[in-house]
Amino acid sequence: MRLSWLASQLSISAASASVSVLALVSKGLLYKARAEDDGRATALFLTDEGVAACLSCQYFEANRHPGKPAPHHCGLVIAPLSVALLRMDCPEQVPADPATRRRNWKVFA
Ligand code: SF4
Repeated sequence: MRLSWLASQLSISAASASVSVLALVSKGLLYKARAEDDGRATALFLTDEGVAACLSCQYFEANRHPGKPAPHHCGLVIAPLSVALLRMDCPEQVPADPATRRRNWKVFA
C-alpha cells in the first residue's frame, strides 16, 4: 500500500498517516520498500507480525464473504474486512486458539 492511499482510506492527512506509519515501522508491524510498479515510489508492506494482527484474533473470520471485495469479517465490530484493512496493533485483539489461527493462516497461504 502507498501512504497516500492509507491516508485517504483513514480520512486523515498524509502527515498524520506518516506519523502513524513511523510508529508501526518502529514496532516491526510495517516495513518500507520500493513499490513494485514504480521504482521511484515507496510502498508499505506488512511484516509477518503485522499480518498477524487480525489473523490471530478470535474475532477474525477468514473468507466469510467469499468473492466480495472485503471477503473477511471482524466479529467484534460486525463488519467485512478487506485484506488492505486488516488491523495491525488492534487494541481489541483477543488471541484465538491454535486451531483457529492455523485455519486463518491457510486462507492466506
Ligand atoms: S478485533 Fe481487531 S484484530 Fe480482531 S478481527 Fe477485529 S479488527 Fe481484527
